[in-house]
Amino acid sequence: MLARAGIEQRLTEVRQRITQAAARSKRDPSRIRLLAVSKIQPISVIEEAYGAGQRVFAENRVQEWLEKAPALPDDCQWHLVGRLQTNKVKYLDQNVAMIHSLDRFPLLETLNAQGERRGIVWATLVQVNTARDPAKAGLMPEEVPDFLSSVRECSHVRVQGLMTIGALGASATETQGFFRRLRELRDTLQSRVFPGVDLQELSMGMSQDFELAIEEGATLIRVGTQIFGKR
Ligand SMILES: *Cc1c(COP(=O)(O)O)cnc(C)c1O
Repeated sequence: MLARAGIEQRLTEVRQRITQAAARSKRDPSRIRLLAVSKIQPISVIEEAYGAGQRVFAENRVQEWLEKAPALPDDCQWHLVGRLQTNKVKYLDQNVAMIHSLDRFPLLETLNAQGERRGIVWATLVQVNTARDPAKAGLMPEEVPDFLSSVRECSHVRVQGLMTIGALGASATETQGFFRRLRELRDTLQSRVFPGVDLQELSMGMSQDFELAIEEGATLIRVGTQIFGKR
């Protein structure tokens, strides 16, 4: 666990790097949101990040989120990243700000049914396997249009953008290619009308590659290790 100054300092450093990457790519830094990926980190450590002004956090396990969210102040925003099992959807509520990993039809249907029951409209991102890595979650790029078309039937699910994860062990050039592919896919799809879909967000970039992601248009970056240290 890092000392308080450690997390504060790391957060400051990450925010500076975001500002610099935005300047390099002539982007408005206020259009880039930093998600602190707090998975595995204990509540005390998340509180330190909160003390340093961080309000947006991301967890990858529903169980962990259920334990942590009530322990943190109400003005925290919680995003869910990582594979979401359909049998966990029943535990979600309006305190989930965004689900980054909508990657298959059964999950779309389950979210919609649960949203209908609970009176919630879920904000989601469609996860795309831009690396075409069979070991990775996410729709293949060519599957995305059909998927987005079916969101029309699901009035309790809104798609606000696309999400991707770079491949493990990929070079910077390859990773940049995955991010660029996501943005190009988004740009192509934006010329078509999909009811219930508004592709303004691009969730891409983690500790190792968030600057590349910003240069390729990321609006949400998901940073864990660089803020909290090794898990
Ligand atoms: C863990 C995780 C991150 C953060 O990874 P770091 O390398 O620690 O920054 C980002 N996105 C997803 C989906 C994750 O599971």
